[in-house]
Amino acid sequence: MCLRGIHKLDKPKLTLAQKLRRNEVKMIISNLFEKKKPVISFEIFPPKKEAELQNIDATLQTLATLHPDFISVTFGAGGSSADNRTVKLAQKIKKDYGIEPLVHLTCISNSKEEIKEILGQMESAGLKNVLALRGDVNPNVPAKDDFRYASELVSFIKEQGDFHVSGACYPEVHLEAADEVSDLRNLRKKVDAGAEHLVSQLFFDNNKFYDFLSKVRIAGIDAPVEAGIMPVTNKAQIKRMVTMCGAALPEKFERILERYGENKEALFDAGMVYAVNQIVELISSGVDGIHIFTMNNPVVAGRICEEIKNLI
Ligand code: FAD
Repeated sequence: MCLRGIHKLDKPKLTLAQKLRRNEVKMIISNLFEKKKPVISFEIFPPKKEAELQNIDATLQTLATLHPDFISVTFGAGGSSADNRTVKLAQKIKKDYGIEPLVHLTCISNSKEEIKEILGQMESAGLKNVLALRGDVNPNVPAKDDFRYASELVSFIKEQGDFHVSGACYPEVHLEAADEVSDLRNLRKKVDAGAEHLVSQLFFDNNKFYDFLSKVRIAGIDAPVEAGIMPVTNKAQIKRMVTMCGAALPEKFERILERYGENKEALFDAGMVYAVNQIVELISSGVDGIHIFTMNNPVVAGRICEEIKNLI
């Protein structure tokens, strides 16, 4: 056997993730779904204080060992171009960890000029993937008049340059929507405006997601839809989530709360197992992707990834 042959055989093949890290493939999040199913992503939020941005490294180091396909970074309600912690953290994820970030951006409290400035910050940081959101109506943060809905932000971003846009969707109908059909119609507008990939609101009942997904496809929306999973770690958190986003709690979850609501450790364990069971069932059903709301807790993300490592 000639040496050239040996050399050829020994050369390790690069995985898709490695190629992406080497920038051999242009990283467009919506394209991931053509190559991999399920896509696994994490969501984190930027720490409130600038100084804490340093501590986020401990979280990121653990998350990076789990090899997510991308990490999304939330944008504070009423966030502005002056407060660019989201962009800074996204830049860190890309530069220091070689993982593609998805930058959340809300529009209800920002003018077109302000959105342009944030997109400029993204451009300078080499960030191309953006989750275009309206943001929640907040009585403490006055709305500006330039954008009313996320679909308008999607169109605006597409006009500004070579960005790849994702959008949010709601398996149990957005709380302000007139009804399910109009919510789906509005989702279609967002996709028609250029949203190439959708991330769902958290839900605890997979049947609600399957039902929603079949209606999404009937509505002619063929963008990949990631299922948003929130591992519940404490009782206060679940109460807040249910009120904020209107996710229904299935009876089996109510029973967990009844039995373990006052036992922190037991509820944590039960919450993890519940999330893992949801994910296993979703993956077995062929879901496009799983988006894990990590709440910046690497223990939570690590435990889930350990349980599903042979499934993905
Ligand atoms: P839209 O798509 O604009 O929908 C909002 C409502 O308006 C819906 O009821 C819809 O049916 C209706 N609507 C839409 N278009 C029209 C139209 N043309 N005519 C009439 N009605 C219309 N919030 C943050 O502040 N920061 C974050 O980082 C953040 N990240 C999120 C991540 C995910 C995965 C999800 C699911 C939500 C996130 N949110 C975040 C919350 C989000 O901002 C709120 O749920 C918000 O209330 C709606 O945002 P949207 O982009 O879905 O809005």
